[in-house]
Amino acid sequence: MPARPAHCRARVTAVRALAPAILEADLALVEPPALAFDAGQWVSVPFGPKLVRAYSIASTPRTPSTITLCADVRPDGLGSRWFRALAPGHEVELKGPLGGFVVARTETRRLLFVAEEIGIVPIRSILADLEETGPAPSRVRVSSHRVGRRGRRHGRARRAARDRRGRAGGLRGRR
Ligand SMILES: Cc1cc2nc3c(=O)[nH]c(=O)nc-3n(C[C@H](O)[C@H](O)[C@H](O)COP(=O)(O)OP(=O)(O)OC[C@H]3O[C@@H](n4cnc5c(N)ncnc54)[C@H](O)[C@@H]3O)c2cc1C
Repeated sequence: MPARPAHCRARVTAVRALAPAILEADLALVEPPALAFDAGQWVSVPFGPKLVRAYSIASTPRTPSTITLCADVRPDGLGSRWFRALAPGHEVELKGPLGGFVVARTETRRLLFVAEEIGIVPIRSILADLEETGPAPSRVRVSSHRVGRRGRRHGRARRAARDRRGRAGGLRGRR
């Protein structure tokens, strides 16, 4: 039975930068003292009437008294600025848990997860939860459409290798 969403108060206990624009925050629940949720669910942060931002829970249900959120703050809107301002000791309001992107306990099929960029957050929680509790091995495919200098270099190397293979196999000129 999924937990019903509730209004919660939590206190920031730690903030970490995983990359220049990717921040992670640990929030210790104050009221209620723990948040029952399923891996893959999210919480909503209120900014006004009908104005919220959603953040997936990156941690697992095994630590319900502290949840971890992770954000890409590049969009630089309300949610990103709220996340950037988080610091240990700050009190925040949330509503959750929300959402049905969860793996049923009865699932026996081999799972393939596909995520783009910060979309990996709920999958991180699901995979950690599966590892902690047991069943099917899973595969993950993550993609990013932002290719840096290093990515472009690798892309060139891959194209050069493909061209070499093409020449060797008589495929030159074919696309
Ligand atoms: C169910 C759910 C779970 C989510 N979980 C997470 C999460 O775990 N971590 C997280 O970082 N975000 C998550 N999001 C997205 C998050 O709720 C915000 O929408 C996002 O952080 C941008 O909010 P903002 O207020 O900073 O920017 P906004 O004010 O919404 O947007 C500012 C500008 O950036 C553009 N923009 C918005 N999002 C992106 C983007 N992703 N890439 C490029 N440009 C963008 C907008 O078009 C606008 O021009 C989730 C969303 C949903 C619906």
